Amino acid sequence: MSRRPTVLALLAASSLALAACGSDGGNSTLTTEADTANCPGDVLDVVVSVNQWGDIARALGGDCATVTTVINSTAVDPHDYEPSTGDIASFEDADLVVVNGADYDHWASDALANLDPEPAVVDAAEVVGVADGTNPHLWYSPDYVQQTAAAITAELTELSPDAADHFAGRAAAFATDLEPCTAELTTIQGLAAGKSYAATETVFDYTAAAVGLTDATPEGYRDAASNESDPSSGDVAAFEAALSDGSIDVLVYNTQTEGSVPEQLRAAAEAADVPVVEVTESVPDGDDSFVEWQLAQLQQLADALGGGQ
Ligand SMILES: [Zn+2]
Repeated sequence: MSRRPTVLALLAASSLALAACGSDGGNSTLTTEADTANCPGDVLDVVVSVNQWGDIARALGGDCATVTTVINSTAVDPHDYEPSTGDIASFEDADLVVVNGADYDHWASDALANLDPEPAVVDAAEVVGVADGTNPHLWYSPDYVQQTAAAITAELTELSPDAADHFAGRAAAFATDLEPCTAELTTIQGLAAGKSYAATETVFDYTAAAVGLTDATPEGYRDAASNESDPSSGDVAAFEAALSDGSIDVLVYNTQTEGSVPEQLRAAAEAADVPVVEVTESVPDGDDSFVEWQLAQLQQLADALGGGQ
């Protein structure tokens, strides 16, 4: 029997390779180089697990940080990513690693635990005091973003003290960038009084809580969604009933997770004239900054709550 692979075998092998590439996100990593000539101190290698924090690290590191974001695509599920050997190597070479923590990007924390010496680490969950098992979508909390940004700036400054003024300037610029979001949050607080939302996933819950919306997601569905398990048909029916009986003012819909159940809920919301706000787990593919992404979602929410009228 010939040892040469048949065309069919080759096709099978290549489709396997494609599948592996899709599931481990082989090409999703993004590196942006520091502007060495304009950095007044040591240039730092910063590696960030996910792009929700990657864009923030880039804004804060400015000319003095080369930032590598391991997952920079909405096509990759950060909850169960398998790091490549290249990802692990980038952690080894990093001066600073930024992870979300709270068991969200455990693959990154696991990789770090195997490194000796371990690079400096900012773990957002540790910074804000959130334990494993808590809703890990910390970048949706305006307070947590500010606390984590402050921790990143503090680490950058410690690692490259001659660039302290540069990092202070970047931190001030980031705070200015956030101002439109803060203003929009204040506007929404006024619109959200007495209003409720339900969500197909828990990603947006911290923002919803920050603006004072009541979570009216039926409990059984919410428990299933937070455990990444499938809701029962009874949970889905309860959700549809709540959408049609007027007890939910806004449906928050995560477009990054596809599935027949979320689509069914969206259709039920549309049939009942409940406005739908589209959110994503990660910064969408393209050129959007973290702040632009968040602001666009907040504006959608304001419109859904009647702010556009
Ligand atoms: Zn998630």
